[in-house]
Amino acid sequence: MSMECEICGSRIVGRKYKIIVEGSELTVCERCKELGVEAKAKPTTKVVVKKRVVRTPKPIVEDYELVENFHEIVRRERERRGWTQEELAKRIQEKATLIRKIEKGDITPEKEVVEKLERVLGVSLREKVEEVKVQKSKSTVPTLGDVVVIRRKKRS
Ligand SMILES: [Zn+2]
Repeated sequence: MSMECEICGSRIVGRKYKIIVEGSELTVCERCKELGVEAKAKPTTKVVVKKRVVRTPKPIVEDYELVENFHEIVRRERERRGWTQEELAKRIQEKATLIRKIEKGDITPEKEVVEKLERVLGVSLREKVEEVKVQKSKSTVPTLGDVVVIRRKKRS
C-alpha cells in the first residue's frame, strides 16, 4: 500500500512523518512535516481522514508561478497528441522519468524544462505573480487551514 501525504497528497517515497496539526495526527511527507508538531506518543483517539481536498501550494519560480494544474495540462496535451511519455521526453531532450514525475505532480520542473514543455505542447504553464503575494519570509508557518481542507468522518 503506497502512502500519501495527508497534507499535500503526494506519494511519500522516503520517510514518513507523523505530526499533530490542530489536534489531529496526520501522516505527511518530509516537506509538510514542519506544518505541525511531530507526534511523539500515539493519541488515544485516532482521527480517520476520509476525504482529502488537495491544495498543493503553488510552487514559486522566479517571478511566475506554475499554473495550479500544470501536471494535468502536461498529461492532457501530451495524450491529445498521442505521444507517450518517452516521446515527449525525447522532444524536449529530457528523461521519461522526469515527464512521469511532472505528470504525477511529484516535482516542480525547472524553468528551462517548463519553457521546453510550453514550446512543444503549445500551452502556457505559468502565470505572473503579483509581487505583493510573494512571501519571502520563511518564519511564518502557514496554518493547516491555508494549505488543506480536511473533512473528518467518524468510522461507522
Ligand atoms: Zn506533503
